[in-house]
Amino acid sequence: MKIKTIPTGPIRANCYVVYDEKTGDAAVIDPGSFDYYVQSATDGLNVKYIICTHGHFDHILGAGEIKDKTGAKLLIHRLDEECFKSSRANLIGDFYFDKEINLEADRLLEDGDEIAFGDIVLKVMHTPGHSKGSIILIDEKERVIFTGDTLFAGGTGRTDFYGSNPTDMRKSILKIMELDGEYHILPGHDTDTFLSEERKYYV
Ligand SMILES: [Zn+2]
Ligand SMILES: [Zn+2]
Repeated sequence: MKIKTIPTGPIRANCYVVYDEKTGDAAVIDPGSFDYYVQSATDGLNVKYIICTHGHFDHILGAGEIKDKTGAKLLIHRLDEECFKSSRANLIGDFYFDKEINLEADRLLEDGDEIAFGDIVLKVMHTPGHSKGSIILIDEKERVIFTGDTLFAGGTGRTDFYGSNPTDMRKSILKIMELDGEYHILPGHDTDTFLSEERKYYV
């Protein structure tokens, strides 16, 4: 598995292009835009999926364009599907008065689902708290977790938005901390970290 990290969009959400080198099969996680850098990162790849760790605008603004250009399937957790239409739920109304988002999901995710492409399998864990339908994506073989805005290096995501819930966030973080062994953590903003490093704060 290869991973390209592209900080993108208005508030620099990390977009991750994840692909299998042999087949070129790929998934784009959290496309905050479909700018030059995301386009170059996906050039020559067979983009099968666009996966949103949650529905906030900074993670989904590029999704429609990638879907149109590649025919990839757009995936989000069932409880964040409303973010594909509602400016209140995706928070864009709080930042831009005249902008709206209108996306169609191709598959609604549930806890325990698996997303497979090439030789890569990403397992979905529902981790509400930052938003109702926040998920993390776990690659058990490569020991990597894409944590969206649930877990960052040295902290958790905000829990003061529409759909946030601090009690759920606590439970979700403890669930992540209970995962076995070491994982490389790739968050929705800022730098990467390791689960062993983050466990120091929560256990
Ligand atoms: Zn967010
Ligand atoms: Zn974000």
